[in-house]
Order: sequence, then structure tokens, then C-alpha cells
Amino acid sequence: METADLVVINTCAIREGAEQKVIGRQGHLARLKSANPGLRVVLTGCSVREAERDGLRRRYPAVDAFLRPDEEPELVDRLGLASAQGAIGAIGAAGSVGRTTTLGRTVVGAADSLPATRAAAVGQGSVARGSAISAWLPIIYGCDKTCTYCIVPFSRGPERSRPFDDIVDEARRLAAAGYREVTLLGQNVNSYGHDLAPEPRFAHVDAERWAGRQLDLHGRPDLAELIRAIDGLRTADGRPAIPRLRFVTSHPWDLSDRLIAALADCPSVCEHLHLPVQSGDDVVLRRMGRQYTIEHYEERLARIREAVPGITVSTDVIVGFCGETEAQFQGTLRLLEAVSYDQVFAAAYSPRPGTPATKLPDDVPPDVKRRRLNELLALQEGIGLERNRAWLGREVDVLVEGITPPRSHDHAADANAAPGAAERDPDAVALAGRSRGNKLVHLYGRPTAVGTEVAVHIDHAGPYALRGTLRLP
Ligand code: SAM
Ligand code: SF4
Repeated sequence: METADLVVINTCAIREGAEQKVIGRQGHLARLKSANPGLRVVLTGCSVREAERDGLRRRYPAVDAFLRPDEEPELVDRLGLASAQGAIGAIGAAGSVGRTTTLGRTVVGAADSLPATRAAAVGQGSVARGSAISAWLPIIYGCDKTCTYCIVPFSRGPERSRPFDDIVDEARRLAAAGYREVTLLGQNVNSYGHDLAPEPRFAHVDAERWAGRQLDLHGRPDLAELIRAIDGLRTADGRPAIPRLRFVTSHPWDLSDRLIAALADCPSVCEHLHLPVQSGDDVVLRRMGRQYTIEHYEERLARIREAVPGITVSTDVIVGFCGETEAQFQGTLRLLEAVSYDQVFAAAYSPRPGTPATKLPDDVPPDVKRRRLNELLALQEGIGLERNRAWLGREVDVLVEGITPPRSHDHAADANAAPGAAERDPDAVALAGRSRGNKLVHLYGRPTAVGTEVAVHIDHAGPYALRGTLRLP
């Protein structure tokens, strides 16, 4: 930043701590601006919410321009990036190009322009990709769900699905460019398609929500249809052109039988599901507005495990939500044990301004939230270790993602691994990759293994990762 002419800060607003980090940087940015008067600072991401426009300048005094997430593609045009030091217009004022809509009485950005902007960028080959092996593929923007604690519907706006053919076209291009793994992205990918127009070619698609607001899901594409279409892209010898297909995030509310059948039928779909549960107690779930009960969640999971034997499952949990009693928290711990998750992403509840839950008292004291979080993480560490130990002695296909920089604690893990041929190879380096079940796997091998799928014999299991020996062909 010390030498930059333009600083773009991409923000997360899911918890207060993330926003505080950026607020805490304002002094540093202000000092940089006085040293370099040409420096411009742009803030984008979920901290830029339409309803907060007035407060943004106060909270982020060093920032010159604010762009909502749906306005990000305009960064280049609106800042005239050919000359970053040019004048910055009255962004966010009247004439703002990003469209808005209302959620209740709150004005929120709407990602109306993103599907077309994305299609144009894909057509021009100008999508920035962070990897030549794995690619993100957005399929739906925004969120229409009713989670009372969550800022996302206010920062990202309502759900906007990308056209079916645009997504399949992008997947085809990724396959042609040699990508080995594609992850379909959205706040709730299971809702894909409900806002698209019905078409005769999707006449066979039908589903019904089991609870809550009903949607007309007849004759429109859905995630199952999309997965089948991408899985159907094949090489000349009939193998999936994209060998690994993943999707995040799934809301249990819209997890249809059609989707479960597609997971079972499509060989490219990886045997891993991230299915956030948030709490193990029905009363808390109702207060959270999650629209399912634990019984429903467990029924969905049982169906998936039956359809895709051995599938790994991860989840998100919030501890210390408004009114959560000790007994309700214990219910969450019991659920973790009953499900036996491979991975849990847990956080203490953080009230977010403007969300419905701020009308409820945030009555679990911070030290209790912290204690519950630590207790949950300690329990999950044991469960994760047990799940990982089940892989010992087995051979897994690992997509090697990169070379791992050496770290001191790796030596301890190395001591547990039997030296294999790859480790004795003087050209071998430490590599890391993922199994189809999304397990992080450490191994030794030649740098040329990066980007390829290799067979690895698992010799060591920790709570968060596996270590194995490369099976040389
Ligand atoms: N749409 C996804 C879903 O429904 O799981 C992901 C949403 S959010 C980006 C990821 C996770 O952040 C949520 O699953 C939830 O556990 C957590 N989260 C959201 N709002 C939170 C809040 N106010 N306090 C603590 N955690 C929160
Ligand atoms: Fe937030 Fe719920 Fe939407 Fe996920 S589904 S982004 S938790 S409102």
C-alpha cells in the first residue's frame, strides 16, 4: 500500500470483527494519503450497504468511493482505471448505476447487472482467475432466505440466477482451458433457477418447498439440471471434461430429492456436501428463521448418505444466538456427535445492524459465547480426528493444488509418516491437495504433480488434515 496509487478494499460484513478490522485501518490510510495526495481508496464488498450510505463516510473517513458488491464490475469504468488518479465521481449518489430494490422497508442493492457483466467478461476472456487448476463459477447472486441474524440479504440483495446456458458455456470454456475442478458458487445454490423464466425444455422439472414461502418451481432450471448438464460435458473418450464438480453453499430448506438424485448419478460431482445447520435445537432454529427442524435436517442427510455412500459432510454453526440456553447449546453438541461431521465452521453470534435479530436481546454474555465456542471446537477436534483416522491405510485420489512452504510443525507430522519413494527422491518437495471428499492431504512429490490427480496412500491422520505417500506409477 505504501507505493500504491489506488487501494481497493474488499470487505466482509458477516461478523462485526471483520468490519472493525477495516475501520481500524483508516488512520494508516489517512497517513498514506497525506504522504501521497494522488492516492485513491475504494471500499467495496458487503460493508457497503445502501441503507448505510450516510454512515459510511463517517466510519471510513479515508475512503474516496464506495461500491456495493453489485457495483464492483464498474470499478474499471467509474474510476477510469486507465488513470487511477483521475477524479472520482459522486458514487452512490443519484445516478448510481447499480440498481436497488427494497427488502421490507430497507433499500438494498440488486445484482441485476451482474449476470450480463459476467457473461461479457467470460466472452472477452477477462475473468480474473486465481488458479489454473480450480475455478469458481458463480451461478446465483444474492440471498432470499430468512435467517434473522444474517446481513447477506441486505448487502447482496435478492437472489438473481445466471442464465442456464451462460453457466454451461462458462463451464465448457473452463474445461477447454484445462481446469480440473469447478465449484458452483452462491449463497444458496439450492435455490438456483426459481427466478428464471419457465422454458419448454425444462418442463420435466418440478419441486415443492416443504415449508415456508412457496415458490413456483415448475418448468424452470434447477441445480440438479445444471449439475447434470455440466457433468454431461465429456471428453472424446467419454470422461467428464471437468473431473471434479463441487457446489457451495446449500441451505437445507431447498435441498430437493432431484438434487440428491443428481449427486448420486453424476460421476464428476465430488463426494462432499457443506450443509450448514447453525444450531442443534428447534426453538433456536425457529428464532434464527432457518425454516427447518433438526428432524428434517437429519432426514435430508440420511437420504444423501444413502444415495452417496461415504460422502463427507461439513457444516456451519453459530453459538450464543439470542436466548440460547445451556440446554439448547448441549443440543448442538449432541447433533455434532450424532452427525459426526468431517468439518465444522463455528462462530459466536455477532449482532449485525439492520437484521431482524437485532430486535431480540443479545443476552448470552461474551465469556459464555467464548466458552461455548471453545467447547464445541474441542469436541469437533476429536470427531474430526476420528473421521480422518478412517482414511488411514487407504488410497485416495488427490488433486495437487500447490507446493507448501516448509513450516517447523510439519516436521513433527513427517516423523509419523513412513518415508516413501517420493520422499527419497531428491527433486521431491512438500505438496498439498484435496481428496474428492475435500480432505486436505499433505504429501511429497515432484513439482510437476501440481495440477494433476495422483493416488496417495494415507499414512497419518490429524484432526484437520491427512498426510500420505505418493503411489508412483
Ligand atoms: N449462505 C450460506 C449459508 O446459509 O450457510 C453462508 C452464509 S454466511 C456467509 C456463512 C456463515 O456465517 C453462516 O452459515 C453462519 O454460520 C455465519 N454467520 C452469518 N451471520 C452471522 C452472525 N451474525 N454472527 C455469527 N455468525 C454468522
Ligand atoms: Fe445468510 Fe441465511 Fe442467506 Fe446464508 S441462507 S446468506 S445464512 S440469510
